[in-house]
Amino acid sequence: MDCIFCKIANGEIKGNILYQDDKAVAFPDINPKAPTHILVIPRKHIASIADLPEADEALMGHLFTIANRLAKQQGISSDGYRLVVNCGPHGGQMVAHLHLHILGGRQLMKMG
Ligand code: AMP
Ligand code: ZN
Repeated sequence: MDCIFCKIANGEIKGNILYQDDKAVAFPDINPKAPTHILVIPRKHIASIADLPEADEALMGHLFTIANRLAKQQGISSDGYRLVVNCGPHGGQMVAHLHLHILGGRQLMKMG
């Protein structure tokens, strides 16, 4: 399958892997929107959160646990950060492989 994130996860494209295990991989976003901008992805190709099988709900929890750990390691946890999952065209999703953005290191625009 011609999926850039699958290729990063399986090592076909060499990236700066910040974390990996048998289920997930994390690497810096190539076009960072904040001083710290990391993507956490499942190794399994799931096109978007809308395509997450119910049987994989624990996998999503695992991505959040990795994000929590990475945010602490990167030193952004105490000041706070944002986790984002874009879904589909209205959500602005550009890469059709489920990913969790970790954004931090600056004050992000408030949502309300
Ligand atoms: P989204 O809009 O949620 O689909 O975000 C996709 C993100 O992937 C964007 O922030 C891109 O900058 C990022 N991105 C695209 N290609 C790569 C790549 N090869 N390595 C790292 N990040 C990438
Ligand atoms: Zn993929």
